[in-house]
Amino acid sequence: MSALPLAVSEASLAAGLRRLGLAGKPVAVHSSLRSFGRVEGGAETVLNALQSVGSTVLLPGFQCAAKIPPPPGQRYRQNGCDYAVHFDFINPPRPFELLTAPVHPKMGAVCHTFARRPGTLRSNHPWHSWLGVGPQAAAWLADHPWESTGRPLEKLAAAGGYVVLLGVDLSSCTAIHLAEEHAGRRPFIRWAMDARGVIREVATSGCAKGFTALLPFCQDLFRSELIGTCRAQAAPIADLVDRLAPVIRAQPELTRCGPDCLRCRDAILCGPLPPDSLPA
Ligand SMILES: [Zn+2]
Repeated sequence: MSALPLAVSEASLAAGLRRLGLAGKPVAVHSSLRSFGRVEGGAETVLNALQSVGSTVLLPGFQCAAKIPPPPGQRYRQNGCDYAVHFDFINPPRPFELLTAPVHPKMGAVCHTFARRPGTLRSNHPWHSWLGVGPQAAAWLADHPWESTGRPLEKLAAAGGYVVLLGVDLSSCTAIHLAEEHAGRRPFIRWAMDARGVIREVATSGCAKGFTALLPFCQDLFRSELIGTCRAQAAPIADLVDRLAPVIRAQPELTRCGPDCLRCRDAILCGPLPPDSLPA
């Protein structure tokens, strides 16, 4: 007979986050609630602990609302997609509405709970929207142009912020997309309709499934602690981006997740080219 593992309390969560060096730090958090085993109070408790230890707390509220076909003549080449199948050619385009845009199911229970909490702010981006609370949340989330993938995350990084991985690996670490951009990879381009009915370009990041291959190059930047059964890790984002950008530039094949991935193929070629240009 085996005893049920003890449920993780808010106090033990907060203590673990402090051991990771996160007291008073702005944090961008990627999480698997299941990884903790049981948590007293569930996702709300994880969020309470993050808010009590960190300062500004950001979690991804990503979705994939930008499925509008490109305007005529705007089919960028090397754009990580098959134009014949990727876009919604059936339904008429509708303006992107942040208030009604769902958070993608893959974001997990903590993000979905965060999105529903009173007081959580959200950046207006049809793909890489971030959720946030704390002293800088309003300022960082108000500044998220559609031409940028991760502007709020860049602001957090510049303020000495940390990425926190709670039971997830580098394939969930959005900050590595910033390293890709620093390495010269242009974001992919998708399209969404704004509130005025204008179809505009939206910068989107590529595939992250292969990022786990970057671990040997950055493991020393992460502090790691067990919280319940959760392997919790944290690293300063600016250092992580500075470390990985030259690695990606020198060894671009490292991030390829598999032979058939169009996004990995085109990211390794440095991303989209204008429709009428010659290959680089
Ligand atoms: Zn891929």
